[in-house]
Amino acid sequence: MSINKIPAVKLAKLKIKIYIAIFLFLFAFVIGIVLLFILVIASNESMESHLTQEEVQEEEQQPVSGAYVVSGIATEVTRYENHFRKYAEEYGIEEHTEVLMAMAMQESGGRYLDVMQSSESLGLPVNTLTDPEKSIEQGVKYFSQTLEQAGGDVELALQAYNMGSGFINYVDEHNNGEYSKDMAIEFSNMMASRMGWSRYGDVNYVDNVMRYLEQDDSVPVNKDGNSGWSLPLKEIRITSEFGMRTHPVTGEPETFHGGLDFACTPADDIMAVKDGEVVEAIHSNVGYGNYVTVQHSENEYSRYGHMTSLNVSVGDNVSQGDSVGKCGTTGSSTGNHLHLEHMTELGQAHPDKIDPRKTLGL
Ligand SMILES: [Zn+2]
Repeated sequence: MSINKIPAVKLAKLKIKIYIAIFLFLFAFVIGIVLLFILVIASNESMESHLTQEEVQEEEQQPVSGAYVVSGIATEVTRYENHFRKYAEEYGIEEHTEVLMAMAMQESGGRYLDVMQSSESLGLPVNTLTDPEKSIEQGVKYFSQTLEQAGGDVELALQAYNMGSGFINYVDEHNNGEYSKDMAIEFSNMMASRMGWSRYGDVNYVDNVMRYLEQDDSVPVNKDGNSGWSLPLKEIRITSEFGMRTHPVTGEPETFHGGLDFACTPADDIMAVKDGEVVEAIHSNVGYGNYVTVQHSENEYSRYGHMTSLNVSVGDNVSQGDSVGKCGTTGSSTGNHLHLEHMTELGQAHPDKIDPRKTLGL
């Protein structure tokens, strides 16, 4: 039937119904758009507040003296952060909490209950630990032991965590105790053929863990000098130059000051200017007071004088930026300061030493 044949009243009612339907549809559409808009704004806001929380957490989690901060560690691992901190502290390696979390990232990505894949080190079959906290505790304990055996060398300890402590002995015998990837490959090949396996361990383990870590930007790295030395304090103010001067304590005129003095406060960490081995860690009431000397290469030494307390002992390997002690005024000193020296040999006469200002590019 055609519209023409519908009575006018019915037609009018039909039109009204159609208008109402169109109106309702448009109304629902507009309401839908408004709701969607509100939802988008709300989720943005919650993302922002989440970010802020993360930032706040990050501030609080700045490592005390470790040279690394974490980068790209999944929430599957960070949810266990309290466990990592607790056991790192318990086993005396709290400055390596970030390294431990990076290891967990490499071991399990936080997706298995045996977070640190520790069951093997307990003599159990792979992945049989079902308590994440137990796994973390065992992993931290085992890493603290390998780190001690490795003399504090994080890279060496990491590779030994993966390949067993035999790797440390092997490196001691074949490379003066120094980690290198070539050493890892050699050891892996040797062990594989000894065990009759196609491969032994992960020769890329150090790199694989390190990709989750970044150098801590709060360690000030000197970019101008070509010596590779970084600054020994977070903020520096030079208070006495290298060279001839009137001695501040004895008043003796024209004595040679064999180092560079920096102002500091007792809360300040004195940081190693470069990787090296501690060759002197002396407690004394005279001269340099409590001081540390680090050997960086055959003829390159840095010495840090007048500290309140020392954080290292002879034989320790330190990394650039590691704290060797706390700022102080022990020995022949009139106030809190760091006396930094650059020597080319131990027992060197003051005038033969190098001006640290030049080495640091200041
Ligand atoms: Zn001095």
